[in-house]
Amino acid sequence: MSDLLGTEAEDAIPEPPAPEGPGLFGMGAPAAPKPAPPPVSNQPYRVLARKYRPSTFSELVGQDALVRTLRNAFASNRVAHAFMLTGVRGVGKTTTARIIARALNCIGVDGQGGPTPEPCGVCANCTAILTDRHPDVVELDAASNNGVDDVRELREAVRFRPSMARFKIYILDEVHMLSSAAFNALLKTLEEPPPAVKFIFATTELRKVPATILSRCQTFHLPRVPQATLRAHYGAICGHEGVTAEDEALAIIARAADGSVRDGLSLLDQAIALSAGRVTTTAVQDMLGLADRTLVLDALEAALRGDLPTLLAALDRAHERGAEPAVLLADMLELVHTLTRLNAVPSLAKDGALPEHERTRGAALAASLSVPVLGRAWQMLIKGVPEVQEAPDRRIALEMVMIRLAHVSDMPTPGDLVRRLTEGGAMPAPRPAPAPAGGGTTLRAVAGGAPVAAVPAPKSWQDVVALAADADPMLHAMLLHEVQPVSLAPGRVDIVPRPAAPRDVAARLSAMLERATGARWMVGISRAEAAPTLAEQSRAADADRLAAARAEPFVQAILQAFPGAEIMKVRDTGADRYGLSGPAALTGAAATPDNLPDFAPPDAMPAWDDDEAPPED
Ligand SMILES: [Zn+2]
Repeated sequence: MSDLLGTEAEDAIPEPPAPEGPGLFGMGAPAAPKPAPPPVSNQPYRVLARKYRPSTFSELVGQDALVRTLRNAFASNRVAHAFMLTGVRGVGKTTTARIIARALNCIGVDGQGGPTPEPCGVCANCTAILTDRHPDVVELDAASNNGVDDVRELREAVRFRPSMARFKIYILDEVHMLSSAAFNALLKTLEEPPPAVKFIFATTELRKVPATILSRCQTFHLPRVPQATLRAHYGAICGHEGVTAEDEALAIIARAADGSVRDGLSLLDQAIALSAGRVTTTAVQDMLGLADRTLVLDALEAALRGDLPTLLAALDRAHERGAEPAVLLADMLELVHTLTRLNAVPSLAKDGALPEHERTRGAALAASLSVPVLGRAWQMLIKGVPEVQEAPDRRIALEMVMIRLAHVSDMPTPGDLVRRLTEGGAMPAPRPAPAPAGGGTTLRAVAGGAPVAAVPAPKSWQDVVALAADADPMLHAMLLHEVQPVSLAPGRVDIVPRPAAPRDVAARLSAMLERATGARWMVGISRAEAAPTLAEQSRAADADRLAAARAEPFVQAILQAFPGAEIMKVRDTGADRYGLSGPAALTGAAATPDNLPDFAPPDAMPAWDDDEAPPED
């Protein structure tokens, strides 16, 4: 990469064509030598992105894999006839395309050379391509030439031989913008390209390019350039420009560039223009609306320690400095991430890529916090991002987010709480015993008359109700809410329907049971005292569980630690779909374990078929 910044790199880029230049393509001798040293003052200003645009593969920044593959392809003379270059904006897609064009068309200093991975930079083809005025290298923006007619025009032009170079090269930028008709028209040419034609496509959105096109191209993914690489690159350029720059300032620019060489160079351009020879961290921060990193650390540290006065003071200072609240919040998130990394791997503090204060203060802070606390801070801050973005006053919204974070700082995380409570002697009491609801043992079958059932006969009232759930949802609802059970035996169930239950509920229950079990079932309407409906029993069991949970010292401790907390629901994993842990109670008396009758209570009325009239007492 350093060679990119050597003087020859800069000097290799010819000036834009002078109107009185020696012929259109600078035939013969390469463009007239420029004034030898760079007297920056009287040269027209060129933006850094243009001035330091790489002109050979070795100058490409951070694209080693691409460079290696292309070099090999040229060395072995196996160059594809169509390339697809994809990556975020500013990583060097069109730059790469132009280097490929030169590599294909370079004829060498002596005019005899063939395609080469190292274009000479001085031959007629190289210089013409470098200055965008080669007749055979056509750069098209697919966004504005996206119609089928544009592609037809291109197909016409493709039929003619190149006018001066070895290959006609078409560079289509943002190729995903082509209409589907245009893609189809292009496909014909890509299928049978004339031998002297090469296509180089560039796109930021590869997935919008049809697979039919992709399958005919050699595709290269240009990755985002790592921050450290960018920082070194910008540092070298500053050195070359005779500008001093603070390391931290370059780091901020590299971070803001987000992997795009060009974006970062534009920022560096601005920073140099603002700085009068010295790019300072403060100037770059002001330019980008960033808060000082130490200020961000101050604010976050105060929030994590619950120190509200310091936090608010830090936020005020950031505001005075013109920091954009959303950016400040993003900085906090990034810092939480850094702290978490430092917490997990303390040796990362030796990483030179981290700013000094993050290496020292940050490492100390990270060591004093736990991963759950950092994780909670991350969650709270990231939830604040949309809040800050949507708030009418972003500054206030950010302050609220940070105050919230400070407020929970002294609260233990759930994991801490459990540990503190268990180690502090308040051992969690054993799980509340499932609320006894009619012991299963009391439901012994009446001797004799056991039916031969296809499906195991229901053993409890909720078994009966559950059978209806699949077979007859209406019946299921009625049984659940409007029918009180009295007794259950194989082939026989006695119930007390509530007034709201339909008249035929017994008949329907009997028919359903018969279908389900394959045995005959008698359903009696009883007048005996009946147990509550299954829905009521289920609610009662819920309430019991809740009360039992509330009585637990462990839970009480949690409720004390989090004022205002409430137990919403207690789930018993051993309970059935109706929330009962044992067979449902039959008859009101059966509800308590002490006075459970063996089976039907003595006062139970004999059951009868539902078509019989209930006997009078
Ligand atoms: Zn050349």
